[in-house]
Amino acid sequence: MNAISTGYLPTEPYTFLNGKFPRKSVGIVFFKGHCQYLLNILQYKQKKICEKKDQLHTYLEWFFGQLQKAEPKTYCPHCKTQKIKYLALTCIPGDQSLDFSKSCCENPKCQNKAFDRNDSPFEIKLENISILKNGARKNFINFLRKEFNLPKRMSQKNIFQWVKNIKKKETLPIKLIGEEYVIDFEKL
Ligand SMILES: [Zn+2]
Repeated sequence: MNAISTGYLPTEPYTFLNGKFPRKSVGIVFFKGHCQYLLNILQYKQKKICEKKDQLHTYLEWFFGQLQKAEPKTYCPHCKTQKIKYLALTCIPGDQSLDFSKSCCENPKCQNKAFDRNDSPFEIKLENISILKNGARKNFINFLRKEFNLPKRMSQKNIFQWVKNIKKKETLPIKLIGEEYVIDFEKL
């Protein structure tokens, strides 16, 4: 999944006519936790490189390209310069739970401060909805709701508008020196 189609801007949500989710939009299917189903379709279509892209192919590339631009609101509680990227995931056999009080950016130094031995870092990205089960998924979506300003009512239209409005945030250029992030003045 790489090519973000330039210039393509859909005017309405793509809705499946038939298949596994008839009359459901791509956005609804995604937020119901079927990200992998959508990615499988996209990968299948990307393999057929000789053929002209159909509407669903173009739409899925745009959709996932937009999601990748989405960024959480909150800054890392440890360095206070980067946006949070991970939460703590605790797995006990048969159950998984996210600890929303433990978050940090991608800096290994911050991760060491945030997590202890029993935690594994869980990336805060929308695609990860699908790898959680019932309760944990619901809590994660509520967390994403705040971090990514998800619509209150997750209707086809609202989700579509939300995806359409995702813009890459303008932030100061930074670089990693050793284990510290500093502002990259050469790129200002
Ligand atoms: Zn940090």
